[in-house]
Amino acid sequence: MATIITHPIVAIALSPAIRSLPNWKLILFTGALLTILPDIDVIGFRLGIPYEHVLGHRGITHSIFFSVLTSFLATVFFMRTLDRKFLLVWAYFFLNMVSHGLLDALTNGGKGIAFFAPFNNERYFFPFRPLEVSTINLSRFISSHGINVLKSEIIWVWIPAVFIFLILYKIKIKSILRINHNS
Ligand SMILES: [Zn+2]
Repeated sequence: MATIITHPIVAIALSPAIRSLPNWKLILFTGALLTILPDIDVIGFRLGIPYEHVLGHRGITHSIFFSVLTSFLATVFFMRTLDRKFLLVWAYFFLNMVSHGLLDALTNGGKGIAFFAPFNNERYFFPFRPLEVSTINLSRFISSHGINVLKSEIIWVWIPAVFIFLILYKIKIKSILRINHNS
């Protein structure tokens, strides 16, 4: 996995897209939770489920199918308050959740991601894997290993996230200005 602080950064980076919704803070918070939800599968280690099993770590909870479904259910939860913005919020939740597996596929350790589960349980990595894999072991994390992990995440995730945030923010401001100008 990438670290638990880095996954939710995606939710912040994409947040200008939902900023105009009345309950955007709650939607942002839910989006942030969805970025870390796939790692719920680490429970499988305790239950004796093998890593490479479809229910194992980086298995179905990291898949595109699971992201589509879970983000749909999360959006239904907000449906009453969305006023025709259902697709926007669904897309926001989906991108947050699917980003988890995409970031994991950039890490240099563990096994690959079952992006296409449950239809195909093959595990995939990207050919380019600049992210240091994060350990679940806290004492090992608070060491030079942890610093290396954070360094690689700052370069490859945090800095790009700032750019995505600024670009989306600019697009949003422009569209608000255009609406005000036309009205
Ligand atoms: Zn993961």
